[in-house]
Amino acid sequence: MEEIRTGVNVAEIFGKNVFNDTVMQERLPKKIYKELKRTIEEGKELDLATADVIAHEMKEWAIEKGATHYTHWFQPLTGVTAEKHDSFISAPMSNGKVLMSFSGKELIKGEPDASSFPSGGLRATFEARGYTAWDPTSPAFVKKDENGCILYIPTAFCSYTGEALDQKTPLLRSMEAINKQALRFLRLFGNTTSKRVKPSVGIEQEYFLVDRQKYLQRKDLVFTGRTLFGAMPPKGQELDDHYFGSIRARIASFMKEVNEELWRLGVTAKTQHNEVAPAQHELAPIYMECNVAVDHNQLIMETLKKVAEKQGLHCLLHEKPFAGVNGSGKHDNWSLTTDDGKNLLDPGKTPHENIQFLLMLLCVLRAVDKHSALLRESAADPGNDHRLGSSEAPPAIISVFLGEQLEDVLEQLVNTGNATHSLKGGKLQTGVKTLPGLNKDATDRNRTSPFAFTGNKFEFRMLGSRDSAAAPNVVLNTIVAESLCETCDMLEKAEDFDKAVHDIIKEYATEHQRIVFNGNGYAQEWVEEAERRGLPNLSSMVDAIPALVSEDAIRMFEKFHVFTEAELRSRAEIKYEAYSKAVNIEARTMIDVASKHIIPAVIRYTRILAETVNAVTQAGAQAEVQLGLLNDTGRLLKETKEALDILIAETGKASEMGEGEEQARRFREHVVPAMDALRRPVDELEMIVDKEVWPMPSYGDLIFEV
Ligand code: ADP
Ligand code: MG
Repeated sequence: MEEIRTGVNVAEIFGKNVFNDTVMQERLPKKIYKELKRTIEEGKELDLATADVIAHEMKEWAIEKGATHYTHWFQPLTGVTAEKHDSFISAPMSNGKVLMSFSGKELIKGEPDASSFPSGGLRATFEARGYTAWDPTSPAFVKKDENGCILYIPTAFCSYTGEALDQKTPLLRSMEAINKQALRFLRLFGNTTSKRVKPSVGIEQEYFLVDRQKYLQRKDLVFTGRTLFGAMPPKGQELDDHYFGSIRARIASFMKEVNEELWRLGVTAKTQHNEVAPAQHELAPIYMECNVAVDHNQLIMETLKKVAEKQGLHCLLHEKPFAGVNGSGKHDNWSLTTDDGKNLLDPGKTPHENIQFLLMLLCVLRAVDKHSALLRESAADPGNDHRLGSSEAPPAIISVFLGEQLEDVLEQLVNTGNATHSLKGGKLQTGVKTLPGLNKDATDRNRTSPFAFTGNKFEFRMLGSRDSAAAPNVVLNTIVAESLCETCDMLEKAEDFDKAVHDIIKEYATEHQRIVFNGNGYAQEWVEEAERRGLPNLSSMVDAIPALVSEDAIRMFEKFHVFTEAELRSRAEIKYEAYSKAVNIEARTMIDVASKHIIPAVIRYTRILAETVNAVTQAGAQAEVQLGLLNDTGRLLKETKEALDILIAETGKASEMGEGEEQARRFREHVVPAMDALRRPVDELEMIVDKEVWPMPSYGDLIFEV
């Protein structure tokens, strides 16, 4: 085994704290292990007797690791994970000693009585109890630190009547849907061997690191995760000297600890680098099956936060912590993989594979075009409003990048119904139909596209950095399942299969070509062009939420048993509330900081200036500059106070309204502009007021001095 430079034996620590396949195979009786594998691979239900044996072994293993408690780990609709710890001890025996116990029932099902989590009206308080149910396809693990050791069991979270109250439940349902439809598709193309198709997902995570002491001096960062005030430093990211730059010692030591923690948890932390903005970094694991990748992404975010705190840093996961420099997102790399290792988005080598690939690709294209608003919605987050549509992030318009070669094939299909040649010297495959040989072409990358084909997978780049990656994958899985289903419906009826495939490819290419865009997605011309093409441009979360409850969305999600209408409506409600709450907190933080810190500091500064003017004049000299500064400061102070009063009034009005869409709109249309109006004079003041007097660290202090 190879020792890496730092002396950490990766192979030895990897997965050390995971109740993974190897551990299960070692510890479980053969029969039980087989039962569990069938549950994991085929979705078969576990009986209680089997669960009892697994629970016992899981507990023994965890106790050997030092665990005292277990928790059902779940993902309510708050964006973060939740846990409630129960110790393994059971009622004391007559001799006063306790036994450590953990039953199959406790493993499979929990009742956290988590009645305060958002349910969007799905639960009345009298039946407020929520249930957690084990997801055996995502392995259990122990988390260990100075404060203890706990066994984590990944679970779904539902209401008494089975409605989903979390991120995982619909994700698992959507995986079932796409498995079923993708298998149908494969069978039509003559595949009789693959037993299961799963979405493979690799999630790149962007984040900022700032010094913890400075962070604590910024109330806006503490309360809202982003800076609400702050003038641009003299130097921003224009030199691109941070991007992929060498990693400084303090950051390297942070990354080292993060990697080791993650490896122990079985997370395949793979790449790390500096990002575009100063103090911005990225971490990406190797792709995994969808639900595990989403769980791992939660572990990554938690670990980044925890390790940062330990090392005197703070990790900002907000989508736009600093105005004027790049924001953070998540990139969701998505493909479909069979249990026997085939990637359905891999162009393949033979013309036959090419045709299957091309139809699959067009099914995705069609899904994205039909449901682009829904995809956009899945990335909606109050923080992402500051990122999408700004100049340095994917715009709020969904379009698909295919690369030169595939776009050319599409053109030919649309124009002539056939594609007879392939760009870039791709071999012309003759004999079978008239489709060209396709080369995998991963080098042709377009970083401005929100949804890009990158050789053998799609990369959805719109996701908010803080958000669970579940919702975007739920949407992707379901819309592609629908597309495959409708395609299979036609193909199963076709008399001439090859001709039908050919016709469908042409039809999809023609109908959905409008979603393909290979140019610069950040250019203003694209916004205009997209409008001409009729593509939605939903620049705010409040505008995006209705897509969740459109007739089309309800019909589709119900058909594939991913969401009921009631579940969708509850989610829309929760999102409106989340938006209003987030803006309300930001507005109130601004009011607090402006009234109690900024205005008093500026007043102190004007006093210093006034005293200087008097002293200088008395001494018989000119105080022109000081007087000029005093007047400028006075003018901006007045503007600040006026803007503050308006923000107070607007926030008051909006927060008095009842929760829901109308309130969210009020926050968006009245409070957000009032916040911008307050920020403007304050940022100008920061540029003229003595740094000694300014009440908080500047952008320069925060992002250049980590
Ligand atoms: P880049 O920054 O160029 O997009 P990265 O290497 O940072 O590339 O991230 C690419 C991500 O895509 C990784 O998580 C990787 O494991 C994942 N990935 C690679 N192949 C596939 C695939 N077939 N399906 C899903 N994800 C994939
Ligand atoms: Mg990427």
